Amino acid sequence: MEDILSSIESFCAWRAKQNISIKESVEILASRILEIEKSVHAFSHFDKKAFIEKAELDNNLSKNGILSGIPIAIKSNICVKGELTDCSSRILEGFRPPYNATVVEKLLAHGALIASGANMDEFAFGSSCETSYFGPTKNPWDITRIPGGSSGGSAASVSSGEVLAALGSDTGGSIRQPAAMCGVVGLKPTYGRVSRYGLIAFASSLDQIGPITRNVADSACILEIISGYDNRDSTSVNMPVPRYTKMLGADIKGVKIGLPSEYFEGGIDEDVLESVRASIELFKKLGAEIVNISLPNTKYALSCYYIIGPSEASSNLARYDGAHYGYRAGDADDIISMYTKTRNEGFGTEAKRRILIGTYALSAGYYDAYYLKAQKVRTKIADDFKEAFKSCDCILTPTAPSTAFKIGEKMNDPLKMYLSDIFTIPANLAGIPSMSIPCGFSRESLPIGLQIMAKAFDEETIIRVADAFERHTEYSQKYSLGRENGK
Ligand code: GLN
Repeated sequence: MEDILSSIESFCAWRAKQNISIKESVEILASRILEIEKSVHAFSHFDKKAFIEKAELDNNLSKNGILSGIPIAIKSNICVKGELTDCSSRILEGFRPPYNATVVEKLLAHGALIASGANMDEFAFGSSCETSYFGPTKNPWDITRIPGGSSGGSAASVSSGEVLAALGSDTGGSIRQPAAMCGVVGLKPTYGRVSRYGLIAFASSLDQIGPITRNVADSACILEIISGYDNRDSTSVNMPVPRYTKMLGADIKGVKIGLPSEYFEGGIDEDVLESVRASIELFKKLGAEIVNISLPNTKYALSCYYIIGPSEASSNLARYDGAHYGYRAGDADDIISMYTKTRNEGFGTEAKRRILIGTYALSAGYYDAYYLKAQKVRTKIADDFKEAFKSCDCILTPTAPSTAFKIGEKMNDPLKMYLSDIFTIPANLAGIPSMSIPCGFSRESLPIGLQIMAKAFDEETIIRVADAFERHTEYSQKYSLGRENGK
């Protein structure tokens, strides 16, 4: 089964060879999901019966779409009509949206079988999936460790072979960092490339939806499907969608790869550094040209993000008042105490921390000193990238400074947790596309991720470079679950 689940193509080939129907294949997968869920908990909710029934009822599944009957996990902050979409928060417990997010509609139109309810950090606040109200997801490579976050459920579901692909959201690294920690491919597209309609907002100027897959080809395929203009999202950009899959199989001779000195300055695990250095050597062998570059304002990225992110979050989270959606506290005397009790009981510690920081940074008298200043720094960071891309086609860095850490290790130290995203945050601030691909294993056999960034709307270069790397290495083929089951 492991090989069959290594790509969408191999799964389809297996189904054809076995001559089994979509429903039969879904039954096999659904039992497998239940088994794996006992140890991994990638979904906050998984209903086997409903999942199989869906495969039976959905006419689109048989229509020969590219994703016909392919199970795709959806992070719990992306609306799936009629299914639990709760951002892994108590305040949205039981919420079933009356409509689909645009990305979900697009997947359905291509025949995909939606597996909703992938677990996440509450409202996508976190880097470890531990802030979920429904309990943490475990890393399929070692269940005593975190899968990364906030799209930890999405990454773990793909890495353990429960599903063939997943959608996550990335505000500061939430697709790429868990992809790195779970040994899978995670892509954050350019801001505006993929519609955010139906994505429950964290920080509206940073959020993007993107695919998490077993390999680069599947990432390109899903990106092609979910990209494009949507008049229901005012920040979606009206530009033609390239055929990303056309970039597969190309060589990378003469491609200029930039190495920013600021990303290699310390605080990085030795194993991570070694794998990234070995990857650079491989790129040289494949004919790429390595250029040294500088992104001098990188040092401000984390502080800038932790003003802008919480500010926008505090504003977006103001709508959860007990009156409109989800949870409402019971024994309130009047409307004000209903609001306060609901929000006090409904939000977890990290969500409260973000609301407090954001409200403070946006308050009269502080707005200019914090939010406005952070926006100015953000422009500087984006300018750094524009300058750097004058001398290179893409930029290579580690995805995260370390491999997956132990569950509980950083929960009481928010600053340490925030540092997990030090390398991924700048791409969100600049709005540029960025992918994490597996590039090696640590001495403890934990996956390591390599980050590839490119100019806005140049996902093609990322796919070309990542695919060339993948074809010359075997990291993406490695499988996490066999190890966990002691096979
Ligand atoms: N870990 C970062 C945060 O907690 C990024 C989260 C994300 O990308 N959603 O804000």
